Amino acid sequence: MQDKILDKSEVDALLERLGSEYDVYAPLRDQQGSVEWAALDSSSDLVWDFSNTGVSPKRFVFPQTECMMRFNNRSDDPEGMIMKQEQGLQRQQALLNIRPCDAKALKALDSIYCRDQTSNDVYWRDKREKTLYVGLACKSPCPTCFCTSVRCGPHYEEGLDILLVDLGERLLVRTLSEKGAELASNLSDAPDEAKQQAAQQKEEAEAAVRSQVGLENIQSRGIMELYEAPMWDREHESCLNCGVCTYVCPTCHCFDIQDETQGEHGRRVRNWDTCMSWLFTYHTSGHNPRGTKKDRFRQRFMHKFKYMPYKFDVIGCVGCGRCTQSCPVNIDVTEVVGEMNEPDLN
Ligand code: SF4
Ligand code: SF4
Repeated sequence: MQDKILDKSEVDALLERLGSEYDVYAPLRDQQGSVEWAALDSSSDLVWDFSNTGVSPKRFVFPQTECMMRFNNRSDDPEGMIMKQEQGLQRQQALLNIRPCDAKALKALDSIYCRDQTSNDVYWRDKREKTLYVGLACKSPCPTCFCTSVRCGPHYEEGLDILLVDLGERLLVRTLSEKGAELASNLSDAPDEAKQQAAQQKEEAEAAVRSQVGLENIQSRGIMELYEAPMWDREHESCLNCGVCTYVCPTCHCFDIQDETQGEHGRRVRNWDTCMSWLFTYHTSGHNPRGTKKDRFRQRFMHKFKYMPYKFDVIGCVGCGRCTQSCPVNIDVTEVVGEMNEPDLN
């Protein structure tokens, strides 16, 4: 790890280096005034004072619709109906100014998609390996952020190649991987006063994360004790099962696979799906193991806060607060998790 310094007026030079090797994406202000991920054309479009994007950047690694294989639909072709795997990403991509929580979310999903040889999703791995993650530390967390409660934080470094800390006219550039070190190799070392400023900013940002949630009782409880807790009868009631919380979430990763044909052409695609949908678990037999709204609501929280930590030692939430912000009926993730963690479950 090395700390370098970059004047913001020289960001263009860094972007030029990036652009020669990568397609560059960043959070940019759209016409409605929201900050969302888009292709970056000019450094003047960069936004430095945003809280976070409404939708997470997971689509760059896990697209909402992704072609996995192609086939042709011709009966006279001996290769007809033979699936051919889709080529991987043609050009490397860089996610510039990704928030530390969103980078950590992708790292958490590695435990699902490419943990070892038995779980090696080639589509996921291809894009993970061809993506550079240049993070931007959070200065002012939102009221709904609770990253520090879930093994993350405003300056969290895991999952990043570089962490940028905005020091006003300058950026502290912390290199965290070989790729990051190479990109920053021509920058000067950061002076001590810049390092101190960054350390102080980290302390202040962590202290500004007001929303907190405990997980210790969830961890020590048995799965069935939590699963059968009476709280689920109450908590699920206002939920509409609309699924918005799962689509904006950086760690939700359910998908559905379909074959589509048009004329002689066919493709196998996977699309984001949601555990909030009744159809997601509907079996061909007619049985549905999560047939009620309560089942589906409980699944979302149990999966993130009990099953994933139990199975992979990873919390399936990075505390970004997007689900709380987007829920049309104001269901607050910290309130539900707080109930799961109460000393007396009821
Ligand atoms: S956004 Fe709210 S209402 Fe919609 S599924 Fe999620 S918790 Fe339920
Ligand atoms: S569950 Fe909510 S707070 Fe946690 S990572 Fe997903 S959107 Fe963010």
